[in-house]
Amino acid sequence: AKMSTSVFEPAACLSEPINVPSKLLMGPGPSNAHPRVLAAGALPLLGHLHTEFTKIMDDTKAGIQYVFQTRNEWTFAVSGTGHAAMEAAVVNLLEVGDVALVCQNGVWGVRLADMVERNGSIAKKISRPMGEVFSLEEIEQGLKEHKPKLVFVTYGESSGGTAQPLEGLGELCHKYDALLLVDSVAIVGGAPLFMDAWNIDVLYAGAQKVLSAPPAASPISFNQRARDKIASRKTKVRSFYFDAAELANYWGCDEGPRRYHHTGMISSIYALREGLAQFAEQGLEKSWKEHAACAQMLYDGLEKMGLELLVKDKSVRNPCVTTIKVPDGVEWKKVVEYAMKNHKLEIAGGLGDLAGKVWRIGIMGYNCTPENVQRTLDVLQEALNEHWKKN
Ligand code: PMP
Repeated sequence: AKMSTSVFEPAACLSEPINVPSKLLMGPGPSNAHPRVLAAGALPLLGHLHTEFTKIMDDTKAGIQYVFQTRNEWTFAVSGTGHAAMEAAVVNLLEVGDVALVCQNGVWGVRLADMVERNGSIAKKISRPMGEVFSLEEIEQGLKEHKPKLVFVTYGESSGGTAQPLEGLGELCHKYDALLLVDSVAIVGGAPLFMDAWNIDVLYAGAQKVLSAPPAASPISFNQRARDKIASRKTKVRSFYFDAAELANYWGCDEGPRRYHHTGMISSIYALREGLAQFAEQGLEKSWKEHAACAQMLYDGLEKMGLELLVKDKSVRNPCVTTIKVPDGVEWKKVVEYAMKNHKLEIAGGLGDLAGKVWRIGIMGYNCTPENVQRTLDVLQEALNEHWKKN
């Protein structure tokens, strides 16, 4: 048959203007980006190896070192959202047949275990219900039983709403000759985090939450122990795109001249750089305090409304993402829809096992102000007045 080469017409939607309403994003992310960050994203493109751009990469690296509180040389941003950083950690740290101990108390442990298995490695899982965290004893039990090469925990759980205590965990993993990998996507910048002091071997994050940048390039850092494990691999990293040694070279983290590995996410790196610069200017400790204060204001307001938080133990709540039990007599979705339709305000539903059972409110970075918390409480109260048939 003869192939047709006639050009078909473009879809009519492309002739319409782009529609981006202004919304207040009080879900678990993305949160609203800082105007300074959005402005940076609109700057002209540079080449991915131009000196002005590699300088911006260096600034970004310094910003990540600051928010992670690490001096690790191998600190950079993976091209892709938080999931890309997760994949990068897994494919670099594990070879086929290697065992990882994956702590599951929400969606992120489940996803990470899936990635471990797709890499041909073995995921041994220990679990807690969503809304609860692991004790050092439980993790030690897993270390003894499974002798893993890697332990994974989620510091800021965005599906269950917990903050996993990390002090002592790095030392424990090292005692059993395992590396510690930590997910900080939904908490970095919003609560104390000390990668070096807490002996975390590999840490990753995302841009679109507390860092108040668009979802794009994702911070990651490897310490010497992790680099030694990567250097001693018998097989090549199974992903070309996420090969940490290649990325470290492109990010100027080794002696060699920077090589083209892939085209850097130019505009996204500008944006991330500005999000990090914003943090450096205001200071991490101020940010941690503001997140704690706004979270407390939210808890008080919710309790006054007669709502119950999923995470009972206040000391292990993620200040950046709060999970609220949907009371009997309310359809969770009606409330979410009411807030969006009437106030262009996002409140999210539950994820994983908590779908339909909780709402999630995020207070992150640029959005972390008492005014935004009050507005969210007011809108929630209004929606409940409308939809909660108390009897
Ligand atoms: N980990 C956690 C704790 C998260 O909250 C998220 C995003 N919700 C991710 C990983 C994945 O990030 P992304 O959606 O940017 O790929």
